Amino acid sequence: MPYDPVCGKKVRPDSEHYYEYHGRMYYFCSEKCRKEFAYSPGRYIVEERGGGGC
Ligand SMILES: [Zn+2]
Repeated sequence: MPYDPVCGKKVRPDSEHYYEYHGRMYYFCSEKCRKEFAYSPGRYIVEERGGGGC
């Protein structure tokens, strides 16, 4: 289940509050969180590591 990168809550993937950034979809609990993310995405994105390796 995706989570809201701004406040950390789990959100439903069918949430109406979402934002696409660098080809990935991010979901939010509310429009407020979505706007916060859209304002400065780099602040909230945690890089996902693809299967180990340095
Ligand atoms: Zn939120």
